[in-house]
Amino acid sequence: MTRRPIMAGNWKMNMLVAEAEALVNGLKAGLDGTEEVDVVVAPTYASLYPIAKVLSGSSIDLAAQNLHWEASGAYTGELSAAMLLDVGCKYVIIGHSERRQFFGETDETVNKRLKAALAAGLIPIVCVGEVLEERKSGRTWDVVGGQIREGLDGVSRSDAEKLVIAYEPVWAIGTGEVATPDQAQEIHAQIRGLVAELYDQGIADGLRIQYGGSVKPDNVRGLMDKPDVDGALVGGASLKAESFLGIVKF
Ligand code: PEP
Repeated sequence: MTRRPIMAGNWKMNMLVAEAEALVNGLKAGLDGTEEVDVVVAPTYASLYPIAKVLSGSSIDLAAQNLHWEASGAYTGELSAAMLLDVGCKYVIIGHSERRQFFGETDETVNKRLKAALAAGLIPIVCVGEVLEERKSGRTWDVVGGQIREGLDGVSRSDAEKLVIAYEPVWAIGTGEVATPDQAQEIHAQIRGLVAELYDQGIADGLRIQYGGSVKPDNVRGLMDKPDVDGALVGGASLKAESFLGIVKF
């Protein structure tokens, strides 16, 4: 089964609006729309609307870095799925390790955000991954499998079809220490196997699984050569047009 690769840039808390606009203009100039890859950028909330305007008519899609599960109400500082759609988002990142580490994200809140995103028609990019101690103590699959089982709890087969999962070993994020293609492939294959068990082989075969963690233009090819690696979620190297284009055109 051929799965269309998906390369997403997670800009985290970086760039003012003018800087973000310059970056997407650089990306637009470097892409001619014939790349057989879905290209996604996830600016800060503050830049979503202006970036949506710059992206209009281009092949690049917009993602938010988080959302709240309620539709509206007294939730100071939060944004709903409808608000993200309203400003032009197609995707939303859910459960990034920085949200788990610094903002109290749990598998239960990932599950709520995931259901809200799916109900509204956003495509979720659900992040999972182990920390270094968990890998060292041989618990990588327990942790990642658990995050998927709990994160996807109650998600229907027709909704599961829309998901993107990002395997991001926490020890590889922002550290320059990329997982080897074999390490990535091992977990990606296990994730696909679990999704087959939870749903069916057809859903598993169609599921796009990104790898994230220090992906750069010079290491992306080896990762993408693996049969179960369907793209990348990119932090640092997505902040410069040249390096993100190098990844998109792997
Ligand atoms: C990320 O934050 O999702 C990420 C993978 O970051 P980096 O590429 O900088 O490791």
